[in-house]
Amino acid sequence: MGLVTASAATERISRWRWLWILPRLAFILFVGGVALLLWMSDRADKEEKRATLISDILWLEQNLRFHLTRNEEVLGRISPAHTVSAAAFESFAHTVFGFESGLRQLIWLGTDGTVRQAHPITMDPSLVGDAGEAVPSRQSFHLARSLGKPVYSKAYPYFTNDWQFEVHVPVSREGRIVGVAVGVYRIRELLGDSVPWWLAERYRISVVGDSGKVLGTRSKVESAATEEGYQVAFEPPGWGLALHAEPYHAPRPLASVLLSASLVILAMIVLWSLWILRRHVLRRQAVEEQLQREHAFRKAMEDSLDTGMRARTLDGEIIYVNPAFCRMVGWTATELIGKRPPMPYWADDYLDETRAIHDRVLAGNGPEEGFELKFKHRDGNVIDVLVHEAPLIDARGQQSGWMGSMVDITERKQAEQRVRQQQDRLQSTARLIAMGEMASSIAHELNQPLAAISSYCTGAVNLLRSAAPATEVVPALNKAVEQAHRAGQIIRRIYSLARPSESRVERLLLAERIDTALALMEGDIREKAIRVTLDLTADAAIEGDPVLLEQALFNLFRNAVEAMRETIPDHRELGISLSRADGYALLKVADRGCGIDAGVVERLFEPLFTTKTDGMGMGLAICRSVVENHRGRLAFQPNPLGGAVFTILLPLTPS
Ligand code: ADP
Repeated sequence: MGLVTASAATERISRWRWLWILPRLAFILFVGGVALLLWMSDRADKEEKRATLISDILWLEQNLRFHLTRNEEVLGRISPAHTVSAAAFESFAHTVFGFESGLRQLIWLGTDGTVRQAHPITMDPSLVGDAGEAVPSRQSFHLARSLGKPVYSKAYPYFTNDWQFEVHVPVSREGRIVGVAVGVYRIRELLGDSVPWWLAERYRISVVGDSGKVLGTRSKVESAATEEGYQVAFEPPGWGLALHAEPYHAPRPLASVLLSASLVILAMIVLWSLWILRRHVLRRQAVEEQLQREHAFRKAMEDSLDTGMRARTLDGEIIYVNPAFCRMVGWTATELIGKRPPMPYWADDYLDETRAIHDRVLAGNGPEEGFELKFKHRDGNVIDVLVHEAPLIDARGQQSGWMGSMVDITERKQAEQRVRQQQDRLQSTARLIAMGEMASSIAHELNQPLAAISSYCTGAVNLLRSAAPATEVVPALNKAVEQAHRAGQIIRRIYSLARPSESRVERLLLAERIDTALALMEGDIREKAIRVTLDLTADAAIEGDPVLLEQALFNLFRNAVEAMRETIPDHRELGISLSRADGYALLKVADRGCGIDAGVVERLFEPLFTTKTDGMGMGLAICRSVVENHRGRLAFQPNPLGGAVFTILLPLTPS
């Protein structure tokens, strides 16, 4: 049953385990939400940056287009006055370069393609006309002249680390082309002139050729940009040129970094506290399970006990009873708990005794070795219980009440009673048998005093007839009276043996009983001239039945006297001594008679064992049963002087 309860408890606990999913789920959702939020904010940030990048580069492209178109117009406005002399051309060139045009060289070509004017004058082979028709410059010249509108050349390298392109603007007068004004752009310088500083701070701006080669860059630093850039066609000049902008990696704003960091820290704290909580709860669960298991085990143990258990507070209120106690008294635990004296199970006829012992226990004076009590079952039956009370000590080590254990001893008591009755019956049967056996020997014993009385009386009658003086008659009559007394004693002995066993227990002095028993033997002692040595100085009081004890002593004295029948007169001695030792009275009866053979010592106390022709073999058996009934012991030892010593040990009554 205990195990069932324990497993039910475990089941109950594991049924609630799913609750752990909730905080875990909440934590996962929280972390997921935070991550999503951070990702979305990052994405929005990136998208915004990209949108800005696109609009910035479109704006730059517009700006460049505006520059180039304006330069085309300016170049188209070249007049003959500007080309007449190198000085005039130089001043025109300065005007053009003046407003951040991005132009680096101005050339005036004649209709045949020859350089008429150039400022500044360079040794660039593409411009001096002897580089052949294939160079981009010549192609653009021819195209511009034939189309009659501005044409841009392909980009081509300028020395080793720069690229340039040209714009050929045909100039016509009165419908006839008179020459071509060529503006030379150096890509890097064009970017330097036309990309504003704030744009250059944010992006690395490059012009990329159709093969993907970077032809010129405006950049703050040389290191490569990290994020993906955006590119738009660079037209004019066309020819596959493109404007490319790559944003520089900008550090994330501090607020965003702080926000992310605090969210991560928060998530970690939540995780940590969840872990701590879980560990705590798991520990508690383990302790709870352990407790429940232990409780179930203890309960199972208590339930399976046959001993009744009852706990009371210091003022006697019942606070706990176990099933065995409930079975014993027939009341349920709910009915009993909270009850105060008198209890419903107290036996009506023993109410005062029960209350007295109850008060003694509560006062702390209950018998430590336990006590017997009568309880009443609910059905009215009275039961005997053996009660042990012990202080109930609480967890702080203080006494909070009394714990009592009760064992139902009704059956044991009844069995004891039955045995006692049986023994009584046996004893009285044995006594009756003995009586029958004794009858003949008593008749024999009575015969002797009766014959003596008869002869003394006959003698007295004869003396009276012969008118003898009274002084002669009186001794004979006294002897007759003596013998009559002896006969009376014999009859009393028979009576005391045959009477029922209910004995009268009283406080008595052993020395007095010895005297009385000895007086019964007086005639025999005198007749056989036995010396009696008495040592009865010790004062030994015991609780007992005087008649039975006298009978036992009489038997011992009679055996001693009879054993000395053959003893020589000098050695006929009966020694009786009384002493005290360890709470016992020690009585010794020593004779110097025939003694007892070692072979028969074992059978000495058996009923009906006798070595005498006229004996009944009941004397020692009765003697031992009397002594043992008085919680004493009877033993035999041989007398070192020859003869027998019988010792009796009887517990002394405290004075
Ligand atoms: P009974 O005297 O009728 O024989 P008891 O039970 O008194 O019965 O004694 C049993 C036997 O024990 C006696 O027959 C005797 O042999 C022996 N006995 C008892 N007391 C003495 C004694 N003092 N000395 C020698 N023998 C004894």
